[in-house]
Amino acid sequence: MVLEGIGNILRKSVDKIKSAVLVDKSLVESIVKDLQRALISADVNISLIKELSDKIREEGRKYVKNIEKKEHLIKILYDEVKNIIGGEKKELILGKKETILFVGLYGTGKTTTIAKLATYYKKRGRKVALLGLDVHRPAASEQLEQLGEKIEVQVFVNKSEKNAIKIYEQYKKELEKYDLILVDSAGRDALEKSLIDEIEKISKAIKPSHTILVIAADIGQAAKIQAQKFKEAANVSGVIITRMDSSAKAGGALTACKEVESPVYFIGTGEHVGDIEQFNPSSFVSRLLGMGDLESLIEKVRSATDEKSQKDLQKRLEDGKFTLADFAKQIESMQSMGSLSKITELIPGFGKAKIPDEMLGNQEQKLKHWKHAISSMTKDEIENPEILEKQTSRLSRIAKGSGTTTGEIRQLLKQYKIIKELAKGAGSMGDISDPSQMSQKQMMKIAKKFGGKKFRFK
Ligand code: GDP
Ligand code: MG
Repeated sequence: MVLEGIGNILRKSVDKIKSAVLVDKSLVESIVKDLQRALISADVNISLIKELSDKIREEGRKYVKNIEKKEHLIKILYDEVKNIIGGEKKELILGKKETILFVGLYGTGKTTTIAKLATYYKKRGRKVALLGLDVHRPAASEQLEQLGEKIEVQVFVNKSEKNAIKIYEQYKKELEKYDLILVDSAGRDALEKSLIDEIEKISKAIKPSHTILVIAADIGQAAKIQAQKFKEAANVSGVIITRMDSSAKAGGALTACKEVESPVYFIGTGEHVGDIEQFNPSSFVSRLLGMGDLESLIEKVRSATDEKSQKDLQKRLEDGKFTLADFAKQIESMQSMGSLSKITELIPGFGKAKIPDEMLGNQEQKLKHWKHAISSMTKDEIENPEILEKQTSRLSRIAKGSGTTTGEIRQLLKQYKIIKELAKGAGSMGDISDPSQMSQKQMMKIAKKFGGKKFRFK
């Protein structure tokens, strides 16, 4: 999980507050100490940690009625952490026609991020093209081409041309047909003059509407200097932080960008093209606190399925007609979102649920078997899976026909039921496209359904 260390500590703190008999100075102090330790290990700047500690202590001293004090303290914890990692959400606002230039040092994830964003915006109806202007590394164009092929987005590169501006001139006319052009550029080991000159030259030619700096979370609080320098030198409007999934220093990188007022628009959370999300500090902290984050989940689900099938599904849910065939489709789109374990992090209540490893492990193989099993079922069975539970002889027939085991099919049915339950909960709430309208109680209802049925809570 992203920022696992901080997440664990924050959840522990919330539990401490919840179970405390008295909200007193020693409780506040013990929470501050825990938080300090977690933030230090996430490479957050010491003076920032001190400031935050002082604020929590001060708020903790304020007089609030004892019963409300617990909520007050949790809210402070939430607000303060949210503030240091980014404050209010700052969205990358795109007009009808945009050219975005991506800059950054070597290996920060520029090219990968471009492919991720291309996928992200293509799903949102944009006509996207990629322009490869990294003329320094011979393999760069190749990499961009391969990614473009994979995600079915047009790529413009010229492997034999060493002058970036000439490549742009060559494709300028064709690029006019697209409404979102993502431009890959070359990096360097450090922010040296030659890089700034090159970015300047490219900027002058392509006139990007946004220039975005790509930083890897690994550098922790050193992101401050980088964000600042690039902002001054290259007119950078915002940042994307990659490798949030694999670096313990992600907290340092986030807080550093906030310090120099470089908005973090997106975070990269893995190597797959689906592993990107808009950075929303408040839902991010909710997730860390273990409150669950339906908004992000729904956004992910939305980006993984196209609009029409989304609408169809919504309708089927409302009509209570979610069948195994729909389940099979959902599995496919889930696969494109990344691993199941990552998705479960986004579901309320899952922050604390202990999900059996065997359920998450070996997914690909299992999902393949499930699909085989479903294709061996009769139409009636797919639409009314309940009959499979009543007549187990059907299970052996399907297992035989699909080369799977009855155990696997039972597992499939179990999983289908869980999803159906969740879907029912969400469906009966009306419009799930606006999660902000959902009350805490409704969220808890879903969490409980999930938690109670299948998962042990710690
Ligand atoms: P560039 O030199 O800036 O273009 O960097 P690349 O896009 O080639 O990425 C460098 C490496 O970082 C590749 O191995 C990517 O797979 C990896 N990478 C990029 N983004 C992420 C991320 O969000 N998480 C993880 N785990 N790896 C990433
Ligand atoms: Mg690259």
